[in-house]
Amino acid sequence: MQAVAADFVRREVVGAVDAWDSEGRYPRSVVAASGLTGLFCPTDLGGAGLGYPDGMTVFEELGRGDAALAFSLSMHNAVAAAVAGAGGELTERYGKPLAAGELLGGFSLTEPAAGSDAAAITTRAAADGTGWRVSGRKAWVSLAGEADVFLVVCKTAEASGHSDIAILAVERADPGVSFPVIYRKAAAAFLPIGEMQLDGAAGTLLAPPGTGMRAALGAIDVARCDIAAIAAGLHAAALETAVAYARERQAFGRRVLDFQGIQWMLADAATDLVASRLLYRHAAGKLGSEEGPVAVAHAKRFCPDAALRAAIACSEVLGAYGWLRDHPLARFIAEAKMLQVVDGTAEIQRLVIARDLDRSGAA
Ligand SMILES: Cc1cc2nc3c(=O)[nH]c(=O)nc-3n(C[C@H](O)[C@H](O)[C@H](O)COP(=O)(O)OP(=O)(O)OC[C@H]3O[C@@H](n4cnc5c(N)ncnc54)[C@H](O)[C@@H]3O)c2cc1C
Repeated sequence: MQAVAADFVRREVVGAVDAWDSEGRYPRSVVAASGLTGLFCPTDLGGAGLGYPDGMTVFEELGRGDAALAFSLSMHNAVAAAVAGAGGELTERYGKPLAAGELLGGFSLTEPAAGSDAAAITTRAAADGTGWRVSGRKAWVSLAGEADVFLVVCKTAEASGHSDIAILAVERADPGVSFPVIYRKAAAAFLPIGEMQLDGAAGTLLAPPGTGMRAALGAIDVARCDIAAIAAGLHAAALETAVAYARERQAFGRRVLDFQGIQWMLADAATDLVASRLLYRHAAGKLGSEEGPVAVAHAKRFCPDAALRAAIACSEVLGAYGWLRDHPLARFIAEAKMLQVVDGTAEIQRLVIARDLDRSGAA
């Protein structure tokens, strides 16, 4: 699957991403045909049945192409895996088409007034005689208007904290669903992100009241590890671009790579890349265990920061040319910034790490 991802990036992403961006078009058919839409789904549903460590190497490859596209595949795969694991009606209806990429999945947790503080959400679901109905406003919904099935995290009573939080699967085509706001972003114009309005939309229960936050956090841990791996891929591609350029470019009668100041910048970026790979691979091996959340927090905290530093340094190595669209470095800088925030900010990862230090007292 790592080779499939590398081939996909080389053939379908690298030469196309600028055109997707200028057209503002999500490459749905390209994603559907990628063979990468059911990474963690079982093979009897048509998935690849990967474990997390293998899945993460796929995300590193995808990060070499475009981090925003890779993020959309991370989210879709998290939804597909959750639906595949749910059993019953949900798996029956959506499992195979999600794994095959015929349907795309989205995840709606964040709200205009509830980001890091996820337990402050106000979207509310209630069961009527015929099933669940959900109303509220979600923010930062990736694949807004594009995904077919959204996992919506919502409250089911007036209880405080997350004791009443549930997750429902809601279809984009439901008459109670609309996408009134699509954001204008610093990069990745091809990836629609915006607000989702829910007005009595019909939902199918994925995680019953009281289990929703735990289920969401489990999925988010996997997604955070994906993001760390994607950051390592972006970091590697930035470094390769800069080294290739500095080997050829001449200044003052020497190769740019022969200047010690440039060598030190590239050497630091290379050390950080080794550290990033070790961190995300370690975290991938811990996913699902008690040590998973903090291992993932270390990787999610470090890898995007390191990728952003590397993308800035590598752009500097190209001088003025680092700023041109002929090279991917300006895009990498904007997307590394996105990776710092998405699926939980660096500050929230530090909170997880600090709580663990407090709990165990040991480093
Ligand atoms: C590109 C992109 C795609 C996204 N896609 C989705 C999606 O598909 N679905 C979805 O549900 N969400 C999505 N998000 C939302 C994302 O998960 C949130 O943006 C993120 O959790 C942070 O929330 P916020 O932006 O509201 O920041 P806030 O929570 O408002 O935080 C503002 C600042 O305060 C800091 N802060 C907050 N609390 C603390 C604290 N306790 N201690 C220290 N500092 C703190 C934060 O780190 C941040 O720097 C996406 C975000 C981005 C950028």
